[in-house]
Amino acid sequence: MNEEIKSMLNTVMLDPDKCKGCITCMKRCPTEAIRVRNGKAKVLYERCVACGECVRLCPHQAKLASFDSFDVINNYKYKIAVVAPALYGQFNNLDDINIILNGLLQIGFDDVFEVSRAAELVTAATKKYMKHHKYQQRPIISTACPAVLELILVRFHSLADRLLPMKAPVDIAINLAREEAVKKGVKKEDIGVFFISPCPAKVFALKTGMGLEKPEADGVLSIAEVYKKLLPAMKSLTEVKPLAKSGSLGLSWASSGGEAAGVCDVKFLAADGIENVINVLKELEDDKLQYLDFVELNACNGGCVGGVLNVENPFVAKARIRALRKNLKYTASEPIAEDKDESFYLWDKMPEVKDVFRLDENRRVAMQKLAVIENVLSTLPGLDCGGCGAPSCRAFAEDVAANEVSKDECVRYEK
Ligand code: SF4
Ligand code: SF4
Repeated sequence: MNEEIKSMLNTVMLDPDKCKGCITCMKRCPTEAIRVRNGKAKVLYERCVACGECVRLCPHQAKLASFDSFDVINNYKYKIAVVAPALYGQFNNLDDINIILNGLLQIGFDDVFEVSRAAELVTAATKKYMKHHKYQQRPIISTACPAVLELILVRFHSLADRLLPMKAPVDIAINLAREEAVKKGVKKEDIGVFFISPCPAKVFALKTGMGLEKPEADGVLSIAEVYKKLLPAMKSLTEVKPLAKSGSLGLSWASSGGEAAGVCDVKFLAADGIENVINVLKELEDDKLQYLDFVELNACNGGCVGGVLNVENPFVAKARIRALRKNLKYTASEPIAEDKDESFYLWDKMPEVKDVFRLDENRRVAMQKLAVIENVLSTLPGLDCGGCGAPSCRAFAEDVAANEVSKDECVRYEK
């Protein structure tokens, strides 16, 4: 994925009128993908892992996550909403998931499919995978959070061999939703399948088809946008049909630790929040966690309930989902996908690691740039103050070596 394509997909966008150049986003980006030039933030898209941290932290709401307009559903005759379980945590005083699912039919969808149903299938497929692939290095790292997957591909190359090569529940859900509609007699060309996403990373993953031959979703909507239409529709329902089929296990995937607890009995670790995730990845790189079988990492605080496209505080959403789970059986009551073998769940292709921090393709030129970097660095104060518009003195020296900026941009540079 080159920088131009990522930029076209607009994982995150900037409202230049709102940006004050305060450097908050730049200092917290986990891949040093932001610079502040001429008083405005600029994203180096090749490095962006779509974690949404800059959207969450910008004090001026200048960073925006990208997603499709709701109107995209009108391009299809038969519209299916594929629902992230995080959506269930957004509503106050709700004791029946069916009210949400019926509300979705009210606002224009013809059918619904719960990602949590597919999550239960992925849990079972992962258990089998771990049993049959004993020689893959432990711990195996979950790939369900696309921001974490992208972070590993961009910044932690040595961990790529430990990735679980399993499609995300949303990819499985989209596939099964389409299959179910065809079985109901709907023509393939009339079907549009739309994921309602809690975060920009899932928008990015579905638009690019991470691990897939090709992207499968026909559009990716935001929970916050759908919420605005859904809430009044839910209040005006006169009839609630029994549409919910997922069990409690599937809903647990909305919060950090839900996936891992379903896959492993004891030897697992679950961490959430981008800084905690990076700390665990560093420990994994140092081979400190070999006693574990499985590691689940979520870039957002609390897991998917913490995604920046949600409306509710993640802790409140988590508590609500916990209450909803109490009314459900452990797994879905209705059998599904019984004819599928392991290949249905495994990635079509391994996503490639990305050399975004390479100084130059040409080794000799890379060595020359490294010499410039070391030379510039030796003259910098080492404060990592961000005043130059780069996140650290080293990043600034790299920008100087790449002729992106003049070393005079450093206010403390010793001339
Ligand atoms: S956090 Fe980033 S995008 Fe927001 S105002 Fe500051 S520099 Fe601009
Ligand atoms: S989304 Fe994450 S990786 Fe991308 S620019 Fe923002 S903070 Fe950096």
